[in-house]
Amino acid sequence: MSDPFDNLINKAREAAAAAGKMAGEVMDTSKLKLREARLSGDIRAAYERLGSVVYDSVKHNTDNRQLVEMMVTELDGLLQEMEELKARETAAGNKISCPQCGTLNDQEFTFCSKCGAALYRTEEEPQE
Ligand SMILES: [Zn+2]
Repeated sequence: MSDPFDNLINKAREAAAAAGKMAGEVMDTSKLKLREARLSGDIRAAYERLGSVVYDSVKHNTDNRQLVEMMVTELDGLLQEMEELKARETAAGNKISCPQCGTLNDQEFTFCSKCGAALYRTEEEPQE
């Protein structure tokens, strides 16, 4: 088994990098949904790891506070990323992204407001 401390630091770095990368990215709703599904899996896994560390700590009466704190920090990062995703989803709302330049246009537009390319609608996308 690899060192859980190293793993956590790497996870935290990954999360930070992903959040930073995401800030400059234009994504349509289906991409956001996909990312959200992955992220919620990560969050569940992080809660599970945290739970097992706390369990071990109580069970064997060891002090895992430092590890627990790192895990909480990791979780905070993931939860923050999720919040950001939700906000982006709301912002993307009923927008349609241009297949050429990625600009988000209103649903009623037939052509991209930026580059003039024809906008395709993805019918298979479920509407909730
Ligand atoms: Zn365009």
